[in-house]
This record gives sequence, C-alpha cells and structure tokens, in this order.
Amino acid sequence: MNLDKVKKSVRNIPDYPKPGIHFKDVSSSYQNSEVFNFVASQICDYYKDFGITKVIGIESRGFILGGVLANKLNAGFIPIRKAGKLPSDVYTQSYELEYGFDTIEIHKDALSKNDIVLIHDDLLATGGTIAAAIELVKRFNISLVYVNFFIELDFLEGRKRFNSKIPIWSLIHF
Ligand code: AMP
Repeated sequence: MNLDKVKKSVRNIPDYPKPGIHFKDVSSSYQNSEVFNFVASQICDYYKDFGITKVIGIESRGFILGGVLANKLNAGFIPIRKAGKLPSDVYTQSYELEYGFDTIEIHKDALSKNDIVLIHDDLLATGGTIAAAIELVKRFNISLVYVNFFIELDFLEGRKRFNSKIPIWSLIHF
C-alpha cells in the first residue's frame, strides 16, 4: 500500500450534493481493509509522539477514523456533534455555510485544560467547520491543539484561515 493507491481509492462524485461540488467519497477508501488500515496507521505514526490524550471526531465522517485514531493513540474519544444531538450540557458554536448557518456542539465536561487534543475530520474544504470546532475547543483553555484531515482540498486554501499556532496536517491532498 502507498499514498498513491490511497488517493486512487477516493471516489470522486461530480455535482454532488449540488451542481459544481466535486464530492470526495471517503467510504470508497474505508471499505477497503488494506487502505483503511494503512490510512489509520500512517496518521497514528505521525502523531504517536505528540502525547495526545483526546481525539475529537467531527460528525459524522470524522467519527469513523477518529475512533480508530483515539484507540491506537491510547487517547479518549470526544464527539463534536450537530446541534441537539448531545445529551448533557454543551458549548455551542454556529458557523456560516454557503447558504445559511450550521451549529455544532461539544459536552462541557469533554476536555480539561491539560489535555493534548487532536481534532480529526475526513476532509478540509473551506475550513468553516474546523474553525468552529477550534472555537469550541478554545472554551477549555487548552494550549496544545493539533488538527488532522484524511483529505485536504488545496485549491480551496482552507488552511489560510488559521494562524500557525495550530498545526494542521493532512494525509493526502487534491
Ligand atoms: P468545510 O467546512 O468547507 O471545510 O467543509 C468540510 C466539511 O464538509 C467536512 O466535514 C467534509 O466532510 C464536508 N465536505 C466539504 N466539501 C466536501 C467535498 N468536496 N467532498 C466531501 N466532503 C466535503
């Protein structure tokens, strides 16, 4: 297995969910056990010496690898979910989409100040989702926060939204 094969495993769906969007379907990668294993191992290798104590997965595709990463890194797993899905007390953050707004939430007792946090999502596009997730994590006054994506769409320049204090690393780029 290699990163070229991983890139080829991502199915491209033109004009989904609406005209002009080229959807990168990670399910076509994750359904292949060799690819799924390799992707998880590569990301874990990168972060293995960072002392990560909590991996955050962003609903919903961020849950798939996020859980595996947490387990392999001996860290706890924390979900960030869409509004109204988490059952206990939450912090809330809204963010702008192409049309309208969306809201994500995290449990107030999910993290503590000394945690070393890795936020994972499947894909970085414009960066709106991850920016909102970072705002949620800021409520906990945590000093060490890392961000990881399986896929980064370089042409959308999502990472330009962030200052270099938050290191972002993606396994593959399109
Ligand atoms: P953004 O907030 O623009 O960075 O969008 C990131 C979120 O939307 C991620 O959770 C992705 O799952 C999803 N997403 C955005 N664009 C795409 C795309 N072209 N293909 C697949 N997923 C996408």
